[in-house]
Amino acid sequence: MGNPKAFLTIPRQEAGYRPIHDRIADFGEVEQTLNTGERKLQASRCMDCGVPFCHWACPLGNRPPEFQDALFRGKWREAYEILTRTNDFPEFTGRVCPALCEKSCVLKLSMDAPVTIREDEAAIIEAAFREGYVVPRTYPRNGHSVSVIGSGPAGLAAANSLNRLGYAVTVYERMEMVGGLLRFGIPNFKLHKPIIDRRIRVMEAEGIAFKTNSEIDLTSLPEGFDAYCVCTGTPQARDLAIPGRDLKGIHFALEMLAQQNRVLAGQTFSREERVTARGRHVLVIGGGDTGSDCIGTSWRQGAASVTQIEIMPKPPVGDNPATPWPQWPVVLKTSSSHEEGCTRRWSLSSTRFIGHGGRVAGVEVEEVEWLPAADGGRPVMQPTGRKEVIQTDLVLLAMGFLRAELPALPPNAFVAGDAASGASLVVRCIASGRKAAADIDKYIRSRQEK
Ligand SMILES: Cc1cc2nc3c(=O)[nH]c(=O)nc-3n(C[C@H](O)[C@H](O)[C@H](O)COP(=O)(O)OP(=O)(O)OC[C@H]3O[C@@H](n4cnc5c(N)ncnc54)[C@H](O)[C@@H]3O)c2cc1C
Ligand code: SF4
Repeated sequence: MGNPKAFLTIPRQEAGYRPIHDRIADFGEVEQTLNTGERKLQASRCMDCGVPFCHWACPLGNRPPEFQDALFRGKWREAYEILTRTNDFPEFTGRVCPALCEKSCVLKLSMDAPVTIREDEAAIIEAAFREGYVVPRTYPRNGHSVSVIGSGPAGLAAANSLNRLGYAVTVYERMEMVGGLLRFGIPNFKLHKPIIDRRIRVMEAEGIAFKTNSEIDLTSLPEGFDAYCVCTGTPQARDLAIPGRDLKGIHFALEMLAQQNRVLAGQTFSREERVTARGRHVLVIGGGDTGSDCIGTSWRQGAASVTQIEIMPKPPVGDNPATPWPQWPVVLKTSSSHEEGCTRRWSLSSTRFIGHGGRVAGVEVEEVEWLPAADGGRPVMQPTGRKEVIQTDLVLLAMGFLRAELPALPPNAFVAGDAASGASLVVRCIASGRKAAADIDKYIRSRQEK
């Protein structure tokens, strides 16, 4: 720790977002960056606590105090090496991680101003690419091969770890490009897609084979591999089976988000195929992160208005005694997309879609109350009978994803990422992919010893 009192004199400084009027005119990344001097000052705020809760909160077990110290001392390569010991892809987490670590930082508890761990992480990896520290390496081969099915963050992390352990790795991806939801879910304004391509080029140069447009039947895995890592995600979105669901203008969030990312990658769609908010009064059903991404995308496509509704009650603003430090605080979250403008409403259940000429024209909603359960469990929803109609001509369903149902798999097949846990976070999927790789290594070694 270079400066033990920096946290007392240097305030937390976030790089912030580009101004709204500027950013909603394009799909470029919204987040800005600090200059090198300011970044080092931010790193100096880390107190190197005796018990660093940030390690505990980060699913990867990242070691922020160690890389902050190197960063403060201007040792960028050292910071990069510390960071990448635990995190394969800081360029993804540095952009899209909700920073579980920052919520458990002691400076969050003491002054509500945690160290800017996520941004520092992004700065370190970007400097590493810029300075040429990230170069393809060769790893001795061990004579075994593993197939990874699915190329989202879990599959990429598993492939990376296995390749470094000496396995010949083939990644199968059913889509035309690799990246999973990094590529065809998360909007470009949060994660610029050349960032994925840059990493894939390194992985390919290190020997990993990627086979796109290759859907694998999980009941008959490709032959010739010693083990398999199934990282197929949670492809099935939760539907809203209420009257009027078959009207035109009602789409799953990913129909719009994935298509928009494809359009930005140069693909074209006919007028009938295109899901666009241009000139539309958009209603997003679902108050989570996917819904928030629909809001930002709708504005950039030229929406006339955007409303987001959620069936659960409005979370507390600021602190929530039910989730005290160092836990993840369940509180109201305002994303960059929310800042861009949106009517947000809570405790509304959708009861039917109303059509006009075959297209959705409104959604009838009913206010609900959430009563404490007698057994102390999940609160019980109580309809109030207070109904109204929200006018809309484009509905986006962002109500989460169903848990994946996988067929029975052989003992040499391991499951990782969202396919194993249900819909989650990029950081958790990278951690899960790394763990699956370690389990596969252990499995193959144990069979060799027999
Ligand atoms: C809109 C949206 C925004 C999000 N934003 C964030 C965020 O800001 N921060 C964050 O941390 N998390 C975010 N998430 C969650 C995060 O993207 C996921 O948790 C993560 O991508 C899951 O990783 P995965 O590798 O398990 O699966 P996925 O990323 O879903 O990848 C699975 C891959 O497997 C492929 N596949 C499936 N079946 C087969 C098969 N049979 N054969 C071959 N390939 C197959 C799929 O095509 C896909 O490419 C977001 C999710 C969504 C939907
Ligand atoms: S990956 Fe996320 S939780 Fe872990 S240190 Fe980075 S920002 Fe924090």
